[in-house]
Amino acid sequence: MRAFAITLSLLIVCGAASAQQKQIVIAASTVFDGRGGVLHDTRIVVEGSKIVRIDPNAGPVDYDLRGLTVLPGWIDSHVHISWVFGPDGKSAGAGGTTPQASYAAAGNAWSTLMAGFTTVQSVGSAADVPLRDAIAKGILPGPRILTSAEPLLGRGEQTGTPEEIREFVRRQKAAGADLIKIFAANSVRRPEMSLSQEQLNAACDEAKKQGLRTLVHAYGPAVRAATLAGCTEVEHGTLATDDDLRLMAAKGVWLDPQAGLVMENYLLNKEKFVGTPGFPEEVFPLIKDIIPQFHEFLKRALKIPGLKIVFGSDALAGSHGRNAEEFIDRVRDTGVDPMAAMVSANSLAAQAMGMASEIGSVAPGFQADIIAVDGDPLKDITAVRRVVFVMKSGVVYKNVFSRR
Ligand SMILES: [Zn+2]
Repeated sequence: MRAFAITLSLLIVCGAASAQQKQIVIAASTVFDGRGGVLHDTRIVVEGSKIVRIDPNAGPVDYDLRGLTVLPGWIDSHVHISWVFGPDGKSAGAGGTTPQASYAAAGNAWSTLMAGFTTVQSVGSAADVPLRDAIAKGILPGPRILTSAEPLLGRGEQTGTPEEIREFVRRQKAAGADLIKIFAANSVRRPEMSLSQEQLNAACDEAKKQGLRTLVHAYGPAVRAATLAGCTEVEHGTLATDDDLRLMAAKGVWLDPQAGLVMENYLLNKEKFVGTPGFPEEVFPLIKDIIPQFHEFLKRALKIPGLKIVFGSDALAGSHGRNAEEFIDRVRDTGVDPMAAMVSANSLAAQAMGMASEIGSVAPGFQADIIAVDGDPLKDITAVRRVVFVMKSGVVYKNVFSRR
């Protein structure tokens, strides 16, 4: 009985100690604040899961990241976290629920976090939901996940009546969706709309009523239709006219274009995609031709005043953990300003997700999502490949910088 009493009092003492959170101090010579600003020679003070102070005099230093570029953990607005390669090495699509598919999806989450992405928006599959929840509970390491659960696949009239579409949106919300993903067009090769204006209006209006954002896979005419329907964000967007883009800017609709990674990945992993649904042999030369089209589109979009462009890599099997290649494509191939590229995956992406006061900035009160790259992305964008430090919500997952 006495032993029990001692154990109990020890537990109480330990409990008190952990409640009184220890501070973590990070020293940095260069910090991108996530909003386009740069701080020099300062220290970031973290308590629990949050940044509490920026204080050059804080100490003692727990992590010395001087000589590196420190920035908020990146946010990828468009991934397919559960899209994996199957046991035969071939693309198995997203949403598989076999043990192999589940472990592979958990692996994707790990690779993504190690690459400096502390938040991703997966668009999406019902299989994302338990992965999101396991990571949120701390059972598995990975980025914070927002997911659409099941997307609304436009199939013309077969998609359903506006009322049926509203019901579908409500079902996704009930299933735990953080947002609604809508396919309103087929592909960049076949850009015709797969939903009518009326159907799209119903989907985006119902989502708004349910307090959910809408991300619309759209090309050509579907871009204007999504904008008119009051949807939140357009994915891809290729073949939209300058007029369509100006309308998006006027209505505050976000654009998430891609500059290459997704197509490069199909080519790089051709053997793993060829023969799987949607990837016959003859499609690969066409995929190659799409890359310059992406570049031309993004260059055009950059010239539209007020158009808000976020970072989304469309990471899928083969590109999880290589999301940052999309930064390189954007900067190298389309002339995106390197700081704008960083901001598009920090405060701007956070704003697009309605999380502007929680993530995407290095400032007091924000989640302690902090990464460091070896090099200066403003001088050499390939520095984004060299992520040497990853902290998410105050927990350090990677710290591999060696000062030789
Ligand atoms: Zn996608």
